[in-house]
Amino acid sequence: MSLVLSLAVGLILLKCAAQLWLEWLNNSSVRAHAAEVPDALKEVVYRGTYLRSVEYTLAKSRLHRFELMYETAILLLVLLSGWLPWVYHVFSKHWGDSAWSMAAFLFVIGLALSLPGLPLDWYAQFRLEERFGFNTTTQKVWWLDRVKGLALTIVLGYSLLVLILKLVEWAGSSWWFWAWAVLLVFQLLMAVLAPVLILPLFNKFTPLPEGSLRERLLKLAERTRFHAQSIQLMDGSKRSRHSNAFFTGFGRFRKIVLFDTLVHDLPEPELEAVLAHEIGHFKKRHIPKMLLFSAVGSLAGFYLLSVLAKQDWFYHSFGFEPGNIVTAMLLFALLSGVVTFWFSPLLHLWSRRYEYQADAFAARVLNGPAALIAALRKLNEKNLSNLTPHSVYSGFYYSHPTLLEREKALNHASAE
Ligand SMILES: [Zn+2]
Repeated sequence: MSLVLSLAVGLILLKCAAQLWLEWLNNSSVRAHAAEVPDALKEVVYRGTYLRSVEYTLAKSRLHRFELMYETAILLLVLLSGWLPWVYHVFSKHWGDSAWSMAAFLFVIGLALSLPGLPLDWYAQFRLEERFGFNTTTQKVWWLDRVKGLALTIVLGYSLLVLILKLVEWAGSSWWFWAWAVLLVFQLLMAVLAPVLILPLFNKFTPLPEGSLRERLLKLAERTRFHAQSIQLMDGSKRSRHSNAFFTGFGRFRKIVLFDTLVHDLPEPELEAVLAHEIGHFKKRHIPKMLLFSAVGSLAGFYLLSVLAKQDWFYHSFGFEPGNIVTAMLLFALLSGVVTFWFSPLLHLWSRRYEYQADAFAARVLNGPAALIAALRKLNEKNLSNLTPHSVYSGFYYSHPTLLEREKALNHASAE
């Protein structure tokens, strides 16, 4: 095995080991508090809900640990078996190395690699989520979702791949910059078009009916100068009892979307608090800031890829002949996760800071944190969220602070 290949295998194993260790650490922390509700949470959560959340957390972790080892084994098998160079050989021999054929090569590999995950996804939905009463998806909806997803990837993903490979031909050594620009434009376009063209393929959206809730939310939007075209109700209950709220679109096309499950679970003042939190994200410009950051990140990624694609050793190490950038792209896509994983604590730290800011905003416009705290408690209860994660685990994975952390911050701010 060459040095580079050994290094890649080492990094893959290191990431897997780190993730398994994080699971172990977190499960120990959950188990240590499993028998009784911790004092700090006694007023926050019912005993029954708490015990069930412990069970749910441990069950999810069991599946996740299996998933980690399974995916790592597949990735190693794919890299070490010589399968990738073989598929590449078949494609280039039969269909040449045009952008169309090479995009198809990447596409087929991507598809083949997504297949082993299917049974696990199915199990998560119809066994695990089912057991805890979350699943409302039927077999038909689940399979239709997969088919629609595949059709969309063929139409959008394949065309984008062809375009990027054509750019490599046209732009020469500066291709990485143009490919990045095309991807950026594509992402912005999708942010505008997805709510209109794609989301309706999966869910039904209906305007929130006239009434006190609609009036209350519109008044909140007006008070906070948040201009939205409409408030829509989404049939999230078609798939799951988990609930959410978000807004889509830009500028004049902005829409507020509430899951029907959310409207069902929360009383009006708490729904108002959830929306105030979402408006907080908007007012603090969290979304453009995140977009800018991810654009800078992907620019760096494309540049690094363009450098690697010029190195013969990069190809040789994984059994390819140098020369076709497509194989460098494939290897880069398969391996970038072993590096980016280590940055996730930083990203999540940043994301949790934004959550605190949005919470503070909501408490300010609603003259106090009571409604938001009530809403957060109810959402935690409904989702059986883990209330006692290990701090290293939540540091790595949590995009939102825990319930207790959020309450503490809200109460602290309102006491000042
Ligand atoms: Zn948020």
